[in-house]
Amino acid sequence: MGENNLLPIFLKLENEPTLVVGGGNIAFQKIQQLLDAKSIITVVSLECNDDVSQLVRDGRIEWIQEYYHTKFIDSPKVVIGATSNKAVNKAIYDDAQKLGIPVNIVDQPKLCSFYLGSVHSKGDVKVAVSTNGKSPAVAKKIRNMIKQLLPKETASIVSELGKIRKSIQLSVDTYSERKQIFESIVENQFSTTCGKVSLVGAGPGDPELISIRGATAISTADVLVYDSLVHPDLLKLAPQNAVLIFVGKRCGKHSTVQEHIEGLIVTHATEGKYVVRLKGGDPFVFGRGGEEAEALAKNNISFEVIPGISAGLGSAAYSGIPLTHRDYTSGTIFLTGHAATDENTMDWNAIVKSKMTLVIYMGVKNASDISQKLIQNGMNGDMPTAIIQHATLPFQKIYETTIKKLPTEIENSEINAPAIIIIGEVVSLKNKFANYLQSPTYLKTLESPQFGEIPSNYKLK
Ligand code: SAH
Repeated sequence: MGENNLLPIFLKLENEPTLVVGGGNIAFQKIQQLLDAKSIITVVSLECNDDVSQLVRDGRIEWIQEYYHTKFIDSPKVVIGATSNKAVNKAIYDDAQKLGIPVNIVDQPKLCSFYLGSVHSKGDVKVAVSTNGKSPAVAKKIRNMIKQLLPKETASIVSELGKIRKSIQLSVDTYSERKQIFESIVENQFSTTCGKVSLVGAGPGDPELISIRGATAISTADVLVYDSLVHPDLLKLAPQNAVLIFVGKRCGKHSTVQEHIEGLIVTHATEGKYVVRLKGGDPFVFGRGGEEAEALAKNNISFEVIPGISAGLGSAAYSGIPLTHRDYTSGTIFLTGHAATDENTMDWNAIVKSKMTLVIYMGVKNASDISQKLIQNGMNGDMPTAIIQHATLPFQKIYETTIKKLPTEIENSEINAPAIIIIGEVVSLKNKFANYLQSPTYLKTLESPQFGEIPSNYKLK
């Protein structure tokens, strides 16, 4: 590859004289660029095409209807040669070089002391692309790609920053501090123009358990990406024109499903949309919210996380099991049962030794492994255990057993997901409250909602 030692500069040509030799189509293109620079243009040419003639009639350029002569080149700041006569082009180049005036002979890189870039211009932002004179077509293509890439607010961000620049220079002493401030403002501005994402916890089931903030987020969403455990009533909070995307199908490879979800969020946010990613329970508790946050950060998209009531907390509250109690335990451990047999991630010995209440998510399938591991590691087989299925929903069911009998209970009662398993002395407290614990009003309605993908005839409020 040849050397590229061009120095890109942006010339100030306002009210400066410039010369264009030639009056055809190519000359017209160059004249337009010089007009954009607000230079005072003289065209020397025996003939002019209609476009150039129009500019002359409009008084925007001056036309000298003569053959090119050295005398025309005494004062301009820039000369452009766009004639079809090789000898004339060479003469223009030589004359300009002699006088040290920058010269560009169109389509003849050897007769150029400078090149004009392919330009994208908006407000104070000007991007010029050079291919070192090799391919204007490629330069134009790159220019268009850059144009696509820049957020539409780019020019206004630059203009706003221009306004506050002076005051920051005056009020912040050191260069490095100022640099940091400017960089963080810019980072912030550009990431918000890219749309925003809220990772919102929908709560464990009962739609009334969402936070006010979460509900507000849904009600202002452009795009709502939701899981299978999200109550359909929450979807009704979305604006009529919001796009609702169901991503809860538990089919296919888990990783590809997750990649697909991340791709969806990133794509819509990059288009400037406000994306609400609505997840069962809390986004950061076994919800893969962490992975989604990573994907957003990687793509420079700003986001917020609105917490939700996690299924473990909902299960405990709606079944009357205090997860901590000073007389029984000093803490609670939230676990996934998914990795029950994975010695690398699960230290069952430490878990049993901790004497803490255990709240197990996704534990139904591996219940017998869980039971076995806990007992093997010293847990009393009679440890009170509760399984709460469909917690906080009208059809919530609570099964009480012991850690020893957990697997048979699950099998006999045909319990399946979603269910939370709570293990610990505190489970026995539940019976103390049995006659007093009121079901939240929602539990009394018996209508069961339709979870999952909303049927096309589903009426939003
Ligand atoms: N982010 C969610 C958890 C997602 S993992 C949260 O914070 O709650 C999915 C698991 O959550 C299910 O397998 C089940 O163990 C539990 N779960 C979710 N909703 C539930 C519900 N209504 N009742 C019982 N368990 C539930």
